[in-house]
Amino acid sequence: MRWSRSFIPTVKEDPQEAEALSHKLMVRAGLIRRLTAGAYTYLPLGFKALKKAESIIREEMNAAGAVELLMPALQPIELWKKTGRYDVIGDVMIKFKDRHGREIALGPTHEEVITALVSGEIKSYKDLPLILYQIQTKFRDELRPRFGVIRSCEFIMKDAYSFDIDAKNMEKSYKRIYEAYCRIFERCGIPYVAAQADPGLMGGAVSHEFMTPSDIGEDRIVLCSSCGYAASTEIAAIKNDKGKEEIAEKYGDMREVLTLGKSTALDVSTFLEVDLTNVLKTLIYLADSKPIAVLIRGDHEANEAKIKNRLKVGTLILAGEERVVEETGGAMGFSGPVGLDLPIYADHSVKDMINAVVGANVRDKHLINANHGKNYNVNEWIDARVITSQDACPECGGDIKLVTAIEIGHTFKLGTKYSDPMNVHVLDENGKERQVIMGCYGIGVNRILASLIETSHDENGIIWPVGLAPYEVVIIPVNKNDDHVTREAEKLYLSFKDEGLDVVIDDRSQKSPGVKFKDADLIGFPVQVIVGKKALDQEKVEIKDRRTGCSTLVDKNNVIDKVRDLLNVN
Ligand SMILES: [Zn+2]
Repeated sequence: MRWSRSFIPTVKEDPQEAEALSHKLMVRAGLIRRLTAGAYTYLPLGFKALKKAESIIREEMNAAGAVELLMPALQPIELWKKTGRYDVIGDVMIKFKDRHGREIALGPTHEEVITALVSGEIKSYKDLPLILYQIQTKFRDELRPRFGVIRSCEFIMKDAYSFDIDAKNMEKSYKRIYEAYCRIFERCGIPYVAAQADPGLMGGAVSHEFMTPSDIGEDRIVLCSSCGYAASTEIAAIKNDKGKEEIAEKYGDMREVLTLGKSTALDVSTFLEVDLTNVLKTLIYLADSKPIAVLIRGDHEANEAKIKNRLKVGTLILAGEERVVEETGGAMGFSGPVGLDLPIYADHSVKDMINAVVGANVRDKHLINANHGKNYNVNEWIDARVITSQDACPECGGDIKLVTAIEIGHTFKLGTKYSDPMNVHVLDENGKERQVIMGCYGIGVNRILASLIETSHDENGIIWPVGLAPYEVVIIPVNKNDDHVTREAEKLYLSFKDEGLDVVIDDRSQKSPGVKFKDADLIGFPVQVIVGKKALDQEKVEIKDRRTGCSTLVDKNNVIDKVRDLLNVN
């Protein structure tokens, strides 16, 4: 490609709206442009990198025995009602009525569509296993689109679905795709962790999130360096959190204190000069619309995924102010378990709280010296909190660390969550009808580029691995008015093309060498071939490795071999 004919609008300054480094670099390097909140145009260079990511995914999915197809983005709402997900997905789904009044969704995911498709087509165990996938645009009405293409409303996803006769065979399909994912992320040069995760909206029992540790990650994962345990904080269980014996003689007399406007645990702790660990948070939730109270130690964070799973409810929503007043008789921020007429679930760590401060269920008032078993009762002790770095590894008891990460892929064992309501069964060897067992597997294609950039850059710009780079090599003729330089650069360009190298020549006549060097570093082509008058006089050209920044002068007849060597190691 000739730079002058392409469309590579690089920018010197960071875009104002960008928070994430990958977002800044993608705009500055001329890879993307924002159209509106959460929607981006891929410019030619960004599009090329995106296509390379897609082809790596395609190759590995095909090698794992998956078959590609393409489903529509338009989905009839009836399918979502059939699986019951219509009531759960909420405003994330973009939907509208067509001219005939039919309700249509812009697909946020395709479990319903693929299951409906397959249910009409497969009949026998001989049709299984079957793994189908597509690379297609998805739509989600994100509350807060951010970080450029990392959280956008329109994005490209590779979604795959497996169908098997039983759980044992589904495990095999799951493992094949899991391993394909590892190869995909390795080939893309992205550091990742496969963390155990909560299946959430997708349902099913087990899932794995493929996560890239990053400061801008919106998910948190727990890592144990002793045993290799990796899990989302949503599911990481708290080990040995059974609580100590109650020490009755230490109980003080409970009494009411004034806490004017102090509605958070931290405010109360500061105001009353008590440790945050001795302030009890009482959270009023609606669990499948029924009010419950959950007690959490002041310094801990409630883990809604764990509470939801423990209570086996479909929805768990924090009650709004009006409902809190209705259920507690008090005010938001002043709820407490004493005299509360709701089912009370308490985190195990609350057992250790002696003479705690709790809300009085009266505005601007708290109770001190509140003790469970004496002043209030707990219906059930549960694991209700988010793990902290002070907790032990749930597997081996070793030290853990918590890191934030970007989710780049997710694999789910769905079981019969979809095949049941959509009636997908086949006849087994004995002619007996069997429900098909499913799995589903997603990769955020756009996030592959952003995660790579988040983890592979320097102060000058992006550092692409060869597999994803928009071009593998850039040729930069330095002295633009020198015929010899132009001629040799052109010659090299043509010979690179003949050799099948993915090459761009920076033939912009109006740009200075300084600008060309800066742009080459900013975009991050793995290899730069610099053709200058001085070196040419000695029959040499300069080759620069973007990753190391090292330059070498090479005999102009050996350039291709040298470039190939560099491409092989990058
Ligand atoms: Zn461990």
